[in-house]
Formats: sequence, structure tokens, C-alpha cells
Amino acid sequence: MERIDLASLNLEELTEKLREISEKSGVKIEKFRSAQIYGWLTRGVYSFEEMLNVPKNIKAVLDEYCFITLPRVEKKLVSKIDGTVKYLFRLHDGEFIESVFMRYEHGNTLCVSTQVGCRMGCSFCASTLTGLTRNLTPSEILGQVVAAQKDMGEKVSNIVMMGIGEPLDNYDNVMKFLELVNDEKGLNIGHRHISLSTCGLCDKIRQLADEKKQITLSLSLHASDAETRRKLMPVARKYDLDELISSCRYYIEKTGRRISFEYAMIAGENDTHAHAERLGNLLSGMICHVNLIPLNDVKERNYTKSSKKAIDDFVKILEKKHITATVRRRLGSDINASCGQLRAENEKK
Ligand code: SAH
Repeated sequence: MERIDLASLNLEELTEKLREISEKSGVKIEKFRSAQIYGWLTRGVYSFEEMLNVPKNIKAVLDEYCFITLPRVEKKLVSKIDGTVKYLFRLHDGEFIESVFMRYEHGNTLCVSTQVGCRMGCSFCASTLTGLTRNLTPSEILGQVVAAQKDMGEKVSNIVMMGIGEPLDNYDNVMKFLELVNDEKGLNIGHRHISLSTCGLCDKIRQLADEKKQITLSLSLHASDAETRRKLMPVARKYDLDELISSCRYYIEKTGRRISFEYAMIAGENDTHAHAERLGNLLSGMICHVNLIPLNDVKERNYTKSSKKAIDDFVKILEKKHITATVRRRLGSDINASCGQLRAENEKK
């Protein structure tokens, strides 16, 4: 029998599973135990042994029928400049992922991974260098928040799905994670405090729109014309730019939420005045915001970041077209690790 990943279940599902296990094993598990066990899981334990108020015989059957997936801290880098913390987490099967803990005025934000590796192949990104290994389970996405809170001794109030992986390529598990993280008996983090970033899987953007969740959608655009986007991002060969913009409009229409467009500034590739003009026209009339991100240099990739002047000019042109744009402040620049770099380094060893 396959063992059960308990922390991927909501309280109701957990209660039902415990009932089944009780039946199968002949060990009595009273109903109130499920809330106790659920509590331990959301506070973060690495073994059933740690569940102090659960009797030995129940812990023994839990061990036999279930398993715990909480990520373990393999490596932790702390920025001396702004206190940003970068985690390399080891999963129960020996795979590695990354999360980043950032302090902002509006609260602590955790950037989480949604897959081990990525198969989207963006040409400037370190996360995709060795392709996709596997999806993360709901408990492993949630577990990054639980493990970071436990390690930091601080609450996380905002979550961004901008770590390793493409969240919409792991749709069902990400939706389950969104349900679990929102549970008031669990972490109780509201969807308005959560952003999901995608490279643009159009059919999934439409599906997400129909769910009418209050999360913020971040769209990794990185280009204002079809050709440049195809060159930078293979996903654009499957969904062209018109289709992408139309699915974004659909998302805004269905949810009433504005979209945040991510745009990595790459010298000579997508940062000229012409690119800015086109971007302004493309997004004209949309409820949106543009986030300009000076490219993080990735050793394995052949691009460099735009100059300060190119970025300033870009912002000015967008502003003239009434599109608000901000340049992303770079946290943790001394622990230099754009997402995927720590894992990539670790894989090489
Ligand atoms: N797969 C999702 C989320 C993960 S990447 C997505 O594509 O949105 C999070 C963000 O970092 C994306 O906007 C991505 O395009 C961007 N990114 C990746 N590599 C980068 C780099 N070297 N410099 C700047 N941004 C980068």
C-alpha cells in the first residue's frame, strides 16, 4: 500500500483517512485526534514521534500508513545587507528546492518553489537548466512556509510563487495548496496576500480565472513582440502573444484583479525605446502594473542586465503611455542567488 502524505489533506480529508486507518489496523483513533494531528502538521514536525499528546500506539500506525514531507534546511544563506534569507531545502526523497524569506514593511514574504526543476526552458533562467524532475505535492509547497516559519521563529504573511518551477504546470497541487494555506485552522494566509507567477500557459490562465480566486496573477512577459518573446521563452511558440494578452484580459474581466507584468531587462534584447513603446501599446487600457527586473546574471546563460539609463528611459516611456512601472528592488544581492542557482550548484556537486 502506498503511504499517505498526510499534510496534503485538509482536516476533513484527514479525519476520513484516519478513520480508514483505524478500521484497517484495528487501533482505535478517536475523532478528536485528527485536529491534534492536523495542528502538529501545520506547526511543523519531522516525525510522528514529535506529536507529544498522541499515544504511542497511534503514532506507530501513523508511521506504518503515512509519511511526513516537511522540507529540511540543507543550507541557509543570510544577507548582511537586508536580512533576506535564502533556503536550500532537502525533500524526503533527497531532491532539492529553494525558498527565499524577505522582510518588507507590509510583512514577511516567502518566495516558494512549486516544482523540482522546470520544463519551460526560458533562455535566461537557472531553474530550467536540467529540466523538470517532478512536481511538488501540496504539502511540499505548504511545507516551505511551515519550515521557514519554524526556522525563523516568525510568521510569514505573504507568499509569492516565484521560486523554482511553473505553478500552472502543476495546477491541481497548486490549487490544493491554495486551499490548505487559506484554512483558518491552518496557516490562515488570505489569497489577497498570495501571488502566482506564470510564464503564460494560456489555457491554465483561463481555468484559473474561472476559479475566481483573489490571488494576484504575475505574468512573466519579458517581451513586447512575438519574435523576441519566442526567442527568450519557448512557451511562446505554443501560445502566441495575442493569445496570451487575450487570456490576461479574460483573467482581469473574470476576477476584477489587476495583473502584474514581470519584465526582465536584458541588454540589447528587450530594452530599447522601440520595445518600451510597443509594450506601452500592448498593455494600453489594461488594469495592470509593470515590474521591471534588471536581469540577474546567470553564469550558464549568455545575457547581461540592461544599463541604468536604459531602464530609466524604459520607465519614462511607459509612464508617458500611462502605464505604472516600478523597478524591482534587489534584496539579498550579497547572497547572490537568483532562483534555481543554489540548486543548480548543488546538483553539480
Ligand atoms: N515559472 C514562473 C515562476 C518562476 S520564475 C514564471 O515564469 O513566472 C519567477 C520570475 O523570475 C519570472 O518572472 C522569471 O521570468 C524571472 N526570472 C528567471 N530568471 C531570471 C533572471 N536571470 N533574471 C531576472 N528574472 C528572472
